[in-house]
Amino acid sequence: MQLIDNFNFAGKKAIVRVDFNVPLNKETGAVSDDTRIRGALPTIKKIIADGGSAILMSHMGRPKQNPDPKFSLKQIVSAIESNLGMKIQFVDDCMKADAAVAALKPGEVLLLENLRFYEEEEGKPRGEFANDDEKAAAKKALKDKQKEFAKKLASYANVYVNDAFGTAHRAHGSTAVIADYFDENSKMFGFLINSELKAMDSVLNEAKAPFTAIMGGAKVSDKIMIIENLLNRVQNLIIGGGMTYTFIKALGGKIGNSLCEEDKMDLALEILNKAKEKGVKVYLPTDAVNADAFDANANTCVSKTNETPDGWMGLDIADESIKTFDEVIANSKTVLWNGPMGVFEMDKFAKGTTAVAHAVAKATSNGAFTLIGGGDSVAAINKNKLADKVSYVSTGGGAMLEYMEGKVLPGIKAIRGK
Ligand code: AMP
Repeated sequence: MQLIDNFNFAGKKAIVRVDFNVPLNKETGAVSDDTRIRGALPTIKKIIADGGSAILMSHMGRPKQNPDPKFSLKQIVSAIESNLGMKIQFVDDCMKADAAVAALKPGEVLLLENLRFYEEEEGKPRGEFANDDEKAAAKKALKDKQKEFAKKLASYANVYVNDAFGTAHRAHGSTAVIADYFDENSKMFGFLINSELKAMDSVLNEAKAPFTAIMGGAKVSDKIMIIENLLNRVQNLIIGGGMTYTFIKALGGKIGNSLCEEDKMDLALEILNKAKEKGVKVYLPTDAVNADAFDANANTCVSKTNETPDGWMGLDIADESIKTFDEVIANSKTVLWNGPMGVFEMDKFAKGTTAVAHAVAKATSNGAFTLIGGGDSVAAINKNKLADKVSYVSTGGGAMLEYMEGKVLPGIKAIRGK
């Protein structure tokens, strides 16, 4: 597999799939968080420093009509320019870039308009269909058009670089299909994907014990696959967030109005049994901060997790759980954290998540390798200004989850074959 580190881009045109799906300020239209732009800079800088030119392509949002100015990448040109420290060019139709590409000189950067202005990018037909057969036929026809779409993008360049980890779990035109039009030596991952893979592989394959996985968030159903995969690897499994209560109810506890997936209770018990068989210690929160409404100004009370009073719902872990989790995390040599411990968007219910963020930072300073993934845990790390106090913060929520579940990601397979 070709590595970007020892590739010389001199005189080459590189088409680079980046993840510039950045949030915009609703009033000003300015980029409100440029983390994803910054993530792609090492790759872009390497290409132009070598004397190559970079053609950047990305999606932004989920446009329904095409084109839609709300989702135009033109809005992020100035944010890219200020990050790169240079002017870039922009083409307002990703399928009509021949002239701009031909005129592109070494050291220059060109950004293509939102790829999702073409339904070929996702390969999902848009519009209404009379029935499933019609939809299936449209999807099949679109698959062929997707190949043409990817081929056209490929025609702009001699080299394909994928650095969009956030969409690596999608088999889209620009993330997977395009790779078929480049030979082994002219397709590669960018620096961002490489570091994501390195961080995830070191947790999956080289974890030092004790390895603790901290799983939070709303639903068991979203996390079940990753938990199952991790049970073969971890010594400790900490569970928090809304999914706690599916476990607690399955164990016979009283959960009041707390979130619960009744149809996942058997699964929750199965997980606990499997963990026992494998010798994995499972830590469920023992106490909780409850609210009398799902509201930032709700009244609160603390109770045992399995004795939630009627009419109340558990929205955060409380002090006893925080103390236990903190100790387990601080004594770990490898930590993976995905998902908040409570409704951390509301200040009253953010304490548990903040405490876990600090515990993960403490473990890191004690020498642990710590990996944080998933939008909410990443937000919690950033909010507490701990991003440089942990080992790695992943940029891809869904992609990271799927990789850690043991799935093959189409964007990764397209380049390294697995
Ligand atoms: P996820 O996307 O599955 O990681 O879930 C994140 C969401 O779970 C966040 O928006 C949290 O507010 C929510 N959440 C965390 N704990 C709870 C809880 N105890 N009850 C309801 N929602 C929760």
